[in-house]
This record gives sequence, C-alpha cells and structure tokens, in this order.
Amino acid sequence: MDLELGDAHRELRDVARAWVDKEVVPYAAAWDRAESVDTAIVRKLGDMGFLGIEIPEEYGGSGGDALSYCVLLEELGRGDSSVRGIVSVSLGLVGKSIKSYGSEQQKRDWLPRLCAGESLGCFGLTEPGTGSDAANLTTRAVRDGEDWVLTGTKMFITNGTWADIALIFARTGQPGPKGVTAFLVPTDVPGFGRTEIKGKLGLRGQATAEIVLDGVRVPDSARLGGEGQGFRIAMAALDKGRMGVAAGCVGVARACLEAAVRYAGEREQFGKPIASYQLVQELIADIAVDVEAARLLAWRVADLVDRGKPFGTEASVAKLFASEAAVKAANNAIQVFGGYGYIDEYPVSKYLRDARVLTLYEGTSQIQKLLIGRALTGVNAFV
Ligand SMILES: Cc1cc2nc3c(=O)[nH]c(=O)nc-3n(C[C@H](O)[C@H](O)[C@H](O)COP(=O)(O)OP(=O)(O)OC[C@H]3O[C@@H](n4cnc5c(N)ncnc54)[C@H](O)[C@@H]3O)c2cc1C
Repeated sequence: MDLELGDAHRELRDVARAWVDKEVVPYAAAWDRAESVDTAIVRKLGDMGFLGIEIPEEYGGSGGDALSYCVLLEELGRGDSSVRGIVSVSLGLVGKSIKSYGSEQQKRDWLPRLCAGESLGCFGLTEPGTGSDAANLTTRAVRDGEDWVLTGTKMFITNGTWADIALIFARTGQPGPKGVTAFLVPTDVPGFGRTEIKGKLGLRGQATAEIVLDGVRVPDSARLGGEGQGFRIAMAALDKGRMGVAAGCVGVARACLEAAVRYAGEREQFGKPIASYQLVQELIADIAVDVEAARLLAWRVADLVDRGKPFGTEASVAKLFASEAAVKAANNAIQVFGGYGYIDEYPVSKYLRDARVLTLYEGTSQIQKLLIGRALTGVNAFV
C-alpha cells in the first residue's frame, strides 16, 4: 500500500530506504544498548545529502521540497528514531531557521557545514522551568557594547553534547513572547557548558543534554533575526518540525507493521501461524490503517508548505495523530510478539520506548489539542 509519488520523490525514497537498511537498521539495537549512535553517521548523512533537503544548492544543500523531507524522515524513522532526530534538529530546526531568518553571512558561515555533516546544530528552547510554557523562558541575553552576554540553563537539548552550533532563545526584553531573541552560539565559546542526560526511556542513541550558559559572550552578528523576533522564529521552526516528526512517526509505525507481519507469519501456536487468527490480524490491520492515515496527514502538511499556504494547525493535527499512532503501533506490535516482544532480542520493545517521546516533544499531545482548539474556536485556552 504505497501512495503514488513522482519520479524524484520515489527515487529519494528508494535511495533512503536502501541506505537505512545498510547503514542504520543493522546497528540500531547496538547503539541503543551503548546509549550512543556512532557519530560517524552524521558525516554519512551529510554525504548522502540528507542533511541538506530543502536548503538551496548555493548554500551546500540538496534542494527538494517539504514532501522530499517527509519522504526522507519516514525512512529514517523506520530505521532508528535517534538518527531521524539528529536530522530533525540539525537540519529541520536549526538549518531551516538559518535559511529563513539568517543574514547572508550566517547562511554562508553555517549552512554548507550543517548540510555536509561537518557541523551539527542543536535547538535550545526548553528550560528546567519552562517546557510547554516556552514563552516564559528565563535565559537572559544582556547587551554589553557590541556584544551580548547570555546566562541561563537549557534542558533536554537534542544533539546537545555533539553540536557545534546552538540556536539559543533568550530573553532580551519584556516578559512573554515578544521579549525573546534568537542567537547562534558556537558551542566552543567560554562559559558554554553541557552535560549529557543519561537514563532515558528511549532514544538512547541520541545525545540529549542540559546546557548551562554562564556569561557566554557573542557578537551582535550572532543574533538570528531581529530583537524580539526569537519566539516567532522558534514557533515557525516547530510548526514545520511537527510535520517532520509526524513523518518520522509514520516510519516507526511502518517498522512495527513490517515486524508484526513477519513474526505473525513465522510464529506458530495451536499448530498454525498466529497470522491465521483474526484477533492477531486485527492488531496488524489497526497499525496499517494508522500508517496510511498518518502519512496522508503528514503529506497534506507538506503539500500546504510547498504551495506556500498556512499549515500550522494541520501540522498540529498530523503530529498529534501520528505520534499517538506510533505509540499504539508499537504496543500492538509487542502484543503480536507476545513475550518475545518484551525482550530486546526483537526490535519492537525499542520501538515502543523510542515512540513514547514523540507525544512529548515539539509540543505535547495536550499542547497540540490546545493549538487545534484555539484555531477552531478562536479562544486561547493557554491562559
Ligand atoms: C528526548 C527529548 C528531547 C528533547 N529535545 C529538545 C530539543 O532539542 N530542544 C528543546 O528546546 N526541547 C527539547 N525537548 C523538550 C520538550 O520539547 C519538552 O519536554 C516538552 O515541550 C514538554 O515540556 P516539559 O517537559 O517541561 O513538560 P511540561 O510543560 O511541564 O508538561 C507536563 C505535562 O503538563 C501538560 N501541560 C502543560 N501545560 C498544559 C496546559 N496549558 N494544558 C494542558 N496540559 C498542559 C503537558 O501536556 C504534560 O502532560 C526534548 C525532550 C525530550 C524528552
């Protein structure tokens, strides 16, 4: 059951699928156990052009459109959510923000390196005290002559310990969203500290960090966009990021489907393959329906993006549905595997652990519902 793609998108899908089967799938379980993917994967992603989708070629990108991005993220999500997340953050949240809001110099300084996988980006919005309520962040950036001095703590930052550049959101003015400004902070500057957060339920291969900014000094040329524009930049990145997360969720659900179908055909109970039992088929059919529906929702967002139409609410719908579907798919797959689904000899327990965070980051499911509800009713339930 595959929707019809045009030649270019089909070719990208086939190349990405073959690459994931060779470079990701065989290692995903070991990376999970080691709590680190092999960082050489970043350069490999760059060599394939996977860190440059939707970035113009003049900045080292590989071009393509939002649908290309969805096609790629579905394949990466099927292979390993930790690897998919590296791309979602470095390209999706950081690279694309630089493309949209960066000065010519910032684009020339950072985009070719990010696209090649020579540099990695991280996105520093969440803080210990402000997650869903990101507009109330407390990291401060204070003017000092031609420079800015940043002080504060960022929490749960994907790629945080590996990144060369951090897109940091800091308060430069009034309370609330209008007082936030974005900065591109090299991670090797004095005062930039980072500690890896270990013991995660899933996404264990991914580097998640707490970042402490202790009087970090950057020039005004490190500011991304205008003063007070930072929250808008963050929300624009997350709107589009949600489309990519949704596509990644489709990949997780597909991995669950493939594993469940294979196992149901092999495993025999009561003298027959368990695939012959209707209740087992129901578990599998429910995953398949969600895969199709979630993909359509993600691709609808891509279509809106590619036609230059508003897409924020549709991105929330897609992210909400697809992330909940990925968790359900992993649960169903474990059910099909029975006790073997509960041990890590098979990949389905990892799928559940990895999928669980998808309903939490880039806006929890509750936050997506509030965004959808606000768009439908005109009433802001956040306050
Ligand atoms: C593995 C991982 C990677 C991450 N990567 C990044 C990253 O790269 N960059 C980054 O900036 N952040 C990142 N995050 C942070 C993530 O985006 C936040 O965890 C998320 O936004 C939720 O914030 P919180 O954890 O503070 O939960 P809280 O905001 O404290 O929410 C707790 C609960 O309350 C609910 N809730 C909160 N407000 C409301 C409300 N108004 N109405 C109803 N329910 C509400 C939430 O839905 C949730 O169920 C990551 C998190 C994880 C776990």
